[in-house]
Amino acid sequence: MVKPLSFFKGEIVPISEANVNIMTHALHYGTAVFEGVRGNWNESQSKMFVFRLKEHYERLLRGCSILLMDIPYDVQAMCDITINLIKECGYKEDLYIRPIAYKSTEKVADLRLHKLDSDFALIIVPFGSYIEKEGAIRCCTASWRRMNDTNMPPRVKISGNYVNSILAKTEAVMAGFDEGIMLNQDGSVSEGTGENLFLAIDGKIHTPSLENNILTGITRDSVFNIITNELGLEVIERPIDRSEIYLADEMFLTGTAAHVTPVGELDNRKIGSGGVGPITEKLSNIYAKVIRGEEKEYLNWCTPISVNR
Ligand code: PMP
Repeated sequence: MVKPLSFFKGEIVPISEANVNIMTHALHYGTAVFEGVRGNWNESQSKMFVFRLKEHYERLLRGCSILLMDIPYDVQAMCDITINLIKECGYKEDLYIRPIAYKSTEKVADLRLHKLDSDFALIIVPFGSYIEKEGAIRCCTASWRRMNDTNMPPRVKISGNYVNSILAKTEAVMAGFDEGIMLNQDGSVSEGTGENLFLAIDGKIHTPSLENNILTGITRDSVFNIITNELGLEVIERPIDRSEIYLADEMFLTGTAAHVTPVGELDNRKIGSGGVGPITEKLSNIYAKVIRGEEKEYLNWCTPISVNR
């Protein structure tokens, strides 16, 4: 039997009992930092492979530092809590692992970050595809621009930042598209609402750089390595114009939830053939094996866990 458990206030409790008080600072002001981590079930090895767990917690702590949040766990302690919770829950399917560090002080009308308590919690839920569509997805350019580093810190996963993404994603989906692409204030391309963005142009891969207000994506870093080492292609980080997307040979989005997602259209204009391009297909196939612990050279990115239930 699987158990929907969480790590909350220092203990493992059922998710149904992991409740915060209505006065909690993070609930009112988005003063929290979260992560999205994948547990990928490998049926033939009967093991869970958690992808780049350490790097996710390193990014979480970078967000905590920006929000002046002092949580009582280091990267190793959070990795251990996660491994233990996965074993306790006993799921034998793909998982989404959601750690959150949040301002836990129960006090409203208090606009500050300092001298507030912080806590760390973790939930694990079964999770399949993020964007439920076979083949290439259809995107639109969102009218909501990506927040600028002068407004909010876009490199880390601060909860409040996500209102920006959610406005854009809602607009895109309500208009009949699968995902929205966010531009920067200067009109250059930033990223998807929950994914980093890549183009294939004349056999080279182009992607916005960190200065273009993107999240420091862990999948982005992983595909950089795979593109260079396995496909032998160059990756160029640079500012990208919107019309370059229309003219690109291929486009794909990367994210922990979205994996490598091919994009066939932007704003009703076909990108390349409008389907899944050959580079995207190759990359996506390799990535799918890497995250399930099926590529020896990349096993150091995976934490294998035996689930004995
Ligand atoms: N950009 C945004 C806004 C995101 O929410 C995500 C998902 N975490 C990404 C990019 C991709 O990051 P990662 O590969 O680390 O999941």
